[in-house]
Amino acid sequence: MYWVIEVKTTQRIEMVDISDRLFELIKKNKITSGILALFCPHTTCALTINENYDPTVKQDILNALSRHFPHNYHYAHTEGNADAHIKTSIIGSSATLFVEDGKLILGTWQGVFLCEFDGPRTRKVLVKVIPDENI
Ligand code: ZN
Repeated sequence: MYWVIEVKTTQRIEMVDISDRLFELIKKNKITSGILALFCPHTTCALTINENYDPTVKQDILNALSRHFPHNYHYAHTEGNADAHIKTSIIGSSATLFVEDGKLILGTWQGVFLCEFDGPRTRKVLVKVIPDENI
């Protein structure tokens, strides 16, 4: 069993902070302690954890990816989103987090981001909880 978070993106390329959505999900479903496994079931959209305090960090990450994998380039995949597939593979489709005492464990400056590389679209993030066993 898993939950689904829907995220509507508004740009072709952007990073959307979904930390608050995860905090809500944990609270609403009374998740107390365990592993939160996130999975993004898309080929042009990824998940990452990074700084959510200074927004220029997101900008730098996206700019660096676009410098290395430009949108307009002669790719073999001709749908026009080859760069998005590559960026998704580089960033990854999953994230694993801890929940302790009903709280999501993140570093002071960290947030969980959905990385849109071929938007705007409505995206899904699947969330599965593996609760702690009694030890
Ligand atoms: Zn494609």
